[in-house]
Amino acid sequence: MTITESVTLMLALLYGASQLWWAGKRFGFIVALLSIAAALIIASSFTLLIGTACGAILLALLHWWQPARVEGQVRINQLRDGFQHLLLFALLIVAVQYTINTVMLKAGMTPWLARPNVVDAFLPIAGGIEIKGITAGIWDQNHPAAAVMLAIVLLTGLICKRAFCGWACPIGLLGEKLYQLRKRFIKEELLPPRWLDWPLRMIKYLLLAAFLYLIMFGMPSMAIPSYINSSYHQIADVKMALFFLQPSLIALCCFALIFIIITWRRQGFCRYLCPYGAVLGLLSFLSPLKIRRNSEHCLIEAKGMKCDKCTRACPANIIVHTKATVHSDECQACMRCVAACPKKEALGFGLSRTHTMSARSVMLIVVAALFVLPLVSYLAGYWDSQTPELIRMQLLQMADRIGH
Ligand code: SF4
Ligand code: SF4
Repeated sequence: MTITESVTLMLALLYGASQLWWAGKRFGFIVALLSIAAALIIASSFTLLIGTACGAILLALLHWWQPARVEGQVRINQLRDGFQHLLLFALLIVAVQYTINTVMLKAGMTPWLARPNVVDAFLPIAGGIEIKGITAGIWDQNHPAAAVMLAIVLLTGLICKRAFCGWACPIGLLGEKLYQLRKRFIKEELLPPRWLDWPLRMIKYLLLAAFLYLIMFGMPSMAIPSYINSSYHQIADVKMALFFLQPSLIALCCFALIFIIITWRRQGFCRYLCPYGAVLGLLSFLSPLKIRRNSEHCLIEAKGMKCDKCTRACPANIIVHTKATVHSDECQACMRCVAACPKKEALGFGLSRTHTMSARSVMLIVVAALFVLPLVSYLAGYWDSQTPELIRMQLLQMADRIGH
């Protein structure tokens, strides 16, 4: 695990632990700290130790600068935005580190920055093939983090719907920024008619079906060992990066279309195109946690008033104010509807109308999934790529000629 990954991981874990403290869960806080200490002892990693020290210093500075934010006293939307921006910032640093490492390897030099393994999270198809391989007893050592991160994201869908999309996804956040930029110049909400919206939403499920077909039928189990030992798979991350950095004409047209969709409609990419959104949407039907409206407290039934603030706040255009429970596959558990509701007890995210969770708890689930599980897989020896640097250097020289 590189220093950037270690700092991000330990900062997130310490932040999660501090949230338990500020929420008054002292027992949970002590368990979290003891778990972090145990992980440090088991790992016996100098990098992880440095990461913990840096994480603690950063958290202290963050608390000094924005105490309310660290103590979780801020509003739901501020908490979610802050968390998303921190994740995006960490990913940008990872991207810089990865670029420096790859450019130096390509130039035939020994890199002074190690390759961050978390970049393998951007290889979902490789991750899917690896998970299939694991079920057949084949463990890939080139990009283990791809399988780990894919499994983690799927797990979040089972537990808390599309909270990964609403609380963590960097692409979703960038899409939101582009959409807001467009709204500064063109104020109108350019929504497609309902009859068109549904077929457009199905595109992401078709893309998911294509990916699943590739993983399930395009790669028989017998072929997995030769695939994971192939040159292509060993530098799959570089091939993915080149796909974006040296796009073909078709890829450029696709990027332009995605750009138009993202700026035209809020969460357009998540709603219409993202295969991750599709699989999480399907898994979300199994999640016990849902947005639930309590009609005993809702202003509509309790006071006979007109109110649709929750519906108007929803970026996914879900009609919330007439439903008892939101089952929609588009719900990202972002809790904007809860934040907008003027009656505290009327709307919540939880197991039932009376057992709802705070935004801080949702964030803690996402932190636990995205950071505790990678730490566990690192301790189990299944996180760092075992591809030798020399092999990567040699393969990088002929990356353009390496195909499937
Ligand atoms: S229903 Fe609420 S939690 Fe779900 S996407 Fe809409 S605003 Fe977010
Ligand atoms: S915003 Fe709250 S009070 Fe208003 S309709 Fe929605 S749940 Fe009811």
